[in-house]
This record gives sequence, C-alpha cells and structure tokens, in this order.
Amino acid sequence: MKNLWSGKDAEEAVSRYGAKGVNRDLALRTYTTRLLGGVPALVLHGGGNTSVKTRMKDTLGDEVDVLCVKGSGWDMGVIEPPGLPAVRLDPLRRLMALDKLTDEDMVNFQRLNLLDASAPNPSVETLFHAFLPHKFIDHTHANAVLAVSDHENGEDLLREIYGDRAAVVSYVMPGFALAKMASEAQRKMPKADGLVLHKHGIFSWGDTAEEAYTRMIELVTLAEERIAKGRRSTVKSVALPPKLASAAEIAPILRGLAAIPEDKADGVYKRWVLEFRTSPEILNFVNGAEVARYSQSGVITPDHVIRTKAKPLLVPAPEAGKLDAFAKAAKAAFEAYDAEYKAYFERNNGRAVPKKKMLDTVPRVILVPGVGLFALGKSAKDAKIAADVADNAVLTIPDAEALGKFESVSEADIFDVEYWSLEQAKLGKDAEKPLARQIVLVTGGASGIGLATATAFAAQGAEIVLLDRDGAAAAAAAKKFGGIGIGCDVTKPDDVRAAFDKAAAAFGGVDIVVSNAGAAWQGKIGEVDEKTLRESFELNFFAHQSVAQNAIRVMKAQATGGCLLFNVSKQAVNPGPDFGPYGLPKATTLFLLRQYAVDYGKDGIRANGVNADRVRTGLLTSEMIASRSKARGVSELDYMGGNLLGREVKASDVGQAFVALAMASKTTGAILTVDGGNIAAALR
Ligand SMILES: [Zn+2]
Repeated sequence: MKNLWSGKDAEEAVSRYGAKGVNRDLALRTYTTRLLGGVPALVLHGGGNTSVKTRMKDTLGDEVDVLCVKGSGWDMGVIEPPGLPAVRLDPLRRLMALDKLTDEDMVNFQRLNLLDASAPNPSVETLFHAFLPHKFIDHTHANAVLAVSDHENGEDLLREIYGDRAAVVSYVMPGFALAKMASEAQRKMPKADGLVLHKHGIFSWGDTAEEAYTRMIELVTLAEERIAKGRRSTVKSVALPPKLASAAEIAPILRGLAAIPEDKADGVYKRWVLEFRTSPEILNFVNGAEVARYSQSGVITPDHVIRTKAKPLLVPAPEAGKLDAFAKAAKAAFEAYDAEYKAYFERNNGRAVPKKKMLDTVPRVILVPGVGLFALGKSAKDAKIAADVADNAVLTIPDAEALGKFESVSEADIFDVEYWSLEQAKLGKDAEKPLARQIVLVTGGASGIGLATATAFAAQGAEIVLLDRDGAAAAAAAKKFGGIGIGCDVTKPDDVRAAFDKAAAAFGGVDIVVSNAGAAWQGKIGEVDEKTLRESFELNFFAHQSVAQNAIRVMKAQATGGCLLFNVSKQAVNPGPDFGPYGLPKATTLFLLRQYAVDYGKDGIRANGVNADRVRTGLLTSEMIASRSKARGVSELDYMGGNLLGREVKASDVGQAFVALAMASKTTGAILTVDGGNIAAALR
C-alpha cells in the first residue's frame, strides 16, 4: 500500500482551511481522511472513519476539549471539515464508567454534546475513538486486512502478522461494548500502533496526522505481504457454454425477475435499477469452480450487508440463443433465494428484541458465470454503490482463499448488522418520488420537446436514457440527470437496436419509452416529390415503429408491463395547408400507437400519445413559424397564441403531458392534446 502523504499538500490544506477559520488539527485530519478515502481498497462508501482530539471554542467563548469525528453521510474521499463534527470529549469519556448503554441512548448522548446542533450524526464508532487516548485515529476496512482476517483461524493469522504492533480484538458489533473492549485491549498493549477488529477492519493511531496515516499504510502493507507469500495458483474454472448470451440480453430478464409486484392487477411493480460490471477479476471470481461455496460464505466486512445483503444470487451461465432456458433457470434461482432469505430471517428474528420487520428478499448482487455481475439499487446511484462493494468482495475473497477457506462473521452477527437501526439509517428514509426506479428512454432527447420531456421525468425521480442523432449533445444533456446519452439515428434499425442494448446494459432495461424524434417536411401534396414524402415517412413513421419494436422486445423480457409514448401531432387529425408530407406519417403513427395498445394490452404494455401544436423548438423554427403563419394567413403572434386559451404552448407543457400519461396506469390507446385548445383538432 503506497504512502501518499505529502508535506507540501498537507501545509496547503492547513492554509486553505485555515483561511476559513479551521484549526490546524482539523485541517490535517481532513487532509489524511481524504487520502484514505481516495483508495477503494482501504475505504468504501461509508465504511471506515477518522478522528482528532483538539480544542475549540464553544458559544460562550470557553475553550473545550473536543473529538472531531467523521459524521454519518460523508464520504471520506471528498470530506470537508464540516464532515468531522466536534463533540465534547469529557462527557464522552465519562460514559466509560457505565456498564452498558443502548445504541439509542448512545446516539442521543453524542448529539447532545455536539458543538453545532445542526451537524450530522457522529459515526457509530465515535465512542471507540473517544475511549482511546491517541490524538489522531484512523479506521479503515482495508481489503488486505480482511483477506487475512476472514478465516476460521484468522485471529491466529492476525497475531502472527502483527505481533506487538497491533492488538487483535474478536468480532463484536460496533457500539459501546466494542469501544470498551478496544480500550482495554489497547491498555494491555500500550506500545501498539493500532488494533485489528477481527473480520471488520483496522485502526491505527499517532500523535500527528502523518504518524497515524503512515502506521495505517504500514499495517495494511504487512497484511498484503502475508497474502503475497501465501498465494496459491489461480482458481479452476467452471465449464461454460460454447457461446454466451450478452449482458444486454439477460439484463431485462433479471430485472424483471427482481421486480416486486406491489399490485400486479394494476401493473404496479417495485423495480430496480441495475449496474453491470465485468473485468478479468470479476470473471475469475464468477467462473471459479468453487464459486457456489465462496460466493455464498458472506460479506467481507459486516457493514457491506446493507448494500449487498449477505449473499449474492448465483445464476447459471446463459447460453447464446437459449434465453428461455436461462429465464427459467434464473426464475428458479430467484425463488430459492427468496425462500432462503425468509428462512434466514425467521431463524434470527426469534432472538431479536424488539422483533424486526423483514426487509425485501431481493438480492442486490447477481453473479453470472461467463458474463460478470449485476448490482441492484433503488436508483442508479444506489446500484453503483452496491456494484463498488461487490467489486471489492471480488478482489478480496480470492486473496482470502489464497490463504485458506474464506469465512465471514457468523450468520447471527450479519443479521444483527443488517437489521441494526443505526446501519439502516445510513440508507436514508426519504420518500421516493413517483417515478423512482423507472427507466425512461427518450428519442430526440438532446433538445426541444425531447429534452423538456426528459427534464420532466427526471424531476419525478426517473433514470434517464437520451437518444439523439447528435451523440455528444445527448451525452452532455444526459449528464445533468445522471443518465446516459447515446448517439442514434432512429431511421436506422441497427442503430436503434444497439441503443436499446446499451440502455439495457447500463440500467438493466427500460420501462417508459418516449418516441419523440421527428422533423417537419412541407409541400403541396399533389405536387410534392416522392423523395420528400418517403423521407418524412422514414422518420415520422418507420422510426417510431422501430423504436416501439425494440421497446416491446425489452419490456417482454422484463415481463413487468411498460409504457410506450409517441409524439404524434395535431397534424395527424387536423391537416394544415401544405403540411401533408408531415401530417400523413404522423396520422399513421397515431394508428400505430392504437395498434400497439391493441396487441400488447394483455402484456400490461400501454401505448399513448401526445398531440401538441405550435411548440417553438428546433423543429418549429422561427423561419417555419413565419412560413406556417403565412400559410394560415395570420400574424406570427396570432399563430403561436392562436388557440382557445390564447396561450403559447411550451416544450415543458408537452413534457408534463408525457409524464401524466406515464402515470395514468389505466389509460391506453389515448391521445392527449397539448395545444392550448383547438376545437377543429379535437379528437372525436
Ligand atoms: Zn468499521
């Protein structure tokens, strides 16, 4: 493990934070916390924490001893001084005299002693830091330490590696009892540089930030050296089918199986967003002959359970061209996982006081031999966190296996952490937005109505995929939503298929497709050349068909229904003069959506459209407004506001209409007009 300490950077941090009134101790604490947090092999998503004991002024101006300790919700890699809230140290230390303390009382007491009442909750390991005498304390869940610790005889191995350099404490859940145990262990070995928590992580300490950090790196390096010494030859692989199906092909199947039917009759599912990962290390892990044993042995450190559950789901390798067989086998695997999780809950809930409410039984990580792994989350962000944690296990478990059989903490200990209120609090309790967990794909999404529609869906919590002929513009626009942008000419069926595959590989599938891309062609119908008419049909009809067909392919694989939305046009029912080349394919598209409504209603797939009129966009340009108003014989102003309400229709109004149709779970085959009122274009 490389030591990244730089005296120059450290002093820079001191002067930068100093300018904002942060003292030297806290500035250096922030600097080395970021050094640790920037290395995934040391710290990952909320695992690990740091502290410094210093002095600060309270509101009365009195200097008091405080412990600045990592606050809940802060990522060590990007932490700032407010992420290390100050807690009065003396009251924390006085807790040591108690025989026991509940978690709730501990959290309450810590909050009561914050200098800033609005600060985040101090880490669940705060008392651990408070009870030890050292000024700077660093704590990580270093992969290398876990790899030597996660064995039946891991404690012996740790003692062999660390000798007098670090105390070793048997596994106990974080909290008051562990903090007391650790301080006793440290008192018995006053010269130690740190302490290892068996099957959990490692602490180091020192008088200075540099000393504590350097000791962490040294202690982790000792574990790395021990692993390198014990490494066996690479693992044997399982037999795989001659040709494998792709991640994009199987993702919708897995996503559909993971969806929780909340009201099947109404087509309401609690869906998941998937993140796919593959790499030589992941393939080495999922293809291992003994994957069914070591992948099911538990987490590498207990707090991972809240991100990945204790065990990943292992499905068979998918053979190309045999997706039905894969779907059947995967379904059986999901059912077995569900049954096992329920049994695990029942086995352990018996001794829980008070009794716990069972969480969902859906795996958060799916291992697919030959292909890679999928992580599941309630959002793309959550799925990414689960994938990072899974990736870490994939790197660490083979290292543990190199030294013997990988062994996690006991099932009972895992249960206690999974159902621990303080861990569940890390996941947040915010109410989900109405379209959270839904994946929305919008064609022509980089500008105009498409972008306004994506914006409206993102505001309701949906994950966004933008398709646009301009791939760079799509990517730039999607970034705003944390989504993905894909370059795609929707008139090319191969492009469309590839784009849907990319969406499936990125998020696992698609739930709502807004077929929006279009362009206006003009010409007097009796005189217009055939090429113009055919070009318009390619984009304004056939492209919609191609997009819808691909949507159906993915939605049927998911088997959880879906929603097709088409940008039709007022022209489809109320032709304007010289606008035949545009209106004719749009009229056909109106019937296309009705056909989809008829043919796929039984699959729970709805098809609806929006008839908008006179929306100022890249499609209806200023020049076109001039020419259309001339064709109608009215002024431009009257043309744009020429409707019953006298209001100009905006792209965002059309976006809102698409969102409304996406939420109208009993509506299919319908057209919603967004034209400010035009009785001649009213559907009858
Ligand atoms: Zn920890």
